[in-house]
Amino acid sequence: MSGSVKPVRSWPKSAPICLENLRAGGKPALARLLSAVESFEGHPQLISLLDEALQNPIAQVVALTGPPGVGKSTLTNTMISLYRSAGKSVGVIAVDPSSQVSGGSLLGDRTRLTTDPEDSKIFVRSMAARDRLGGLSEHAIAAVVLMRAVMDYVLVESVGIGQSEADVALVADTCVLCIQPGSGDSLQFMKAGIMELPDVICVTKADMGDVAIRAQADVRGAMSLSSRGGQSWKVPVLLLSAVDRSGIAHLIETCSEHFSMLCDRGQLHSQREQQVKAWLSDQLKMQFGSHGVQVLQRLDVPWGEAVLQPFAFKQKIASRFQGFWSNFPLA
Ligand code: GDP
Repeated sequence: MSGSVKPVRSWPKSAPICLENLRAGGKPALARLLSAVESFEGHPQLISLLDEALQNPIAQVVALTGPPGVGKSTLTNTMISLYRSAGKSVGVIAVDPSSQVSGGSLLGDRTRLTTDPEDSKIFVRSMAARDRLGGLSEHAIAAVVLMRAVMDYVLVESVGIGQSEADVALVADTCVLCIQPGSGDSLQFMKAGIMELPDVICVTKADMGDVAIRAQADVRGAMSLSSRGGQSWKVPVLLLSAVDRSGIAHLIETCSEHFSMLCDRGQLHSQREQQVKAWLSDQLKMQFGSHGVQVLQRLDVPWGEAVLQPFAFKQKIASRFQGFWSNFPLA
């Protein structure tokens, strides 16, 4: 959200005013609210809805990352149809790095996903990336928070190596990294030091045969060298094909197992709290710069309050900064 506190505009009549409205209003209500995320930044109604949504999550959030061409969109399409066959609702946020220059998403809602527009239980939104590396914008984070309070599953599809993996880890419960057979991707990922981030790795295009099996073995080898070995969740390396649909039900099951593990061990709540702290610090840093961060450190951020209502907290900090700068004597 921007640093300046804008005069309060009237909230659009058709947009929901609370979570109950949002849940009752279905796709049209969600669409209106996601538009408001972009055009009503800092509005008290939006802030209260975002904080309410944050406190009332439903969905598991699964992120799919990996380089362009690896098969993420095709995989997302298949996952959507499997979730829908099981009667589950799905929200998808496709982060579109090509739209960074224009500031808006070039794809609009016409991503490469081919979903049924009549299906009220699928909601797809393409959003601009924060930067050319495919990082998540704060609008995308807000969109995840809203969809998570409405849908059974939220898929976040994001391109890139490096920043986008780190960014999706700020919102995802389960991070899935997709690797293309024969591409040398696993070596790249090792070099980039991002083998630490995924909870599940999948080698796509298993229908390519031996080259895919070799890639799976290479990635398993790479993972055995990674420092995650000591953790209780052993990162599975799966082989799947969106063309013949093999392995995708297994991917969904594996993601559910990971989510159950987080819930059973009480880690889900703490992981989500850590994520809120991380993206809030990140956004405050971007908005107020290093001086602002020093000031915040002196303020001794009340994290207990901040993680419960991060959107209101951020607005409060913005107002205080604005109060300071508007009284700054120039002469
Ligand atoms: P993204 O850029 O990661 O979203 O990749 P896409 O889903 O657009 O797929 C890139 C290309 O790989 C397309 O030509 C797809 O048809 C192809 N593709 C996707 N999944 C598979 C698969 O399981 N097997 C094969 N052989 N090709 C695939």
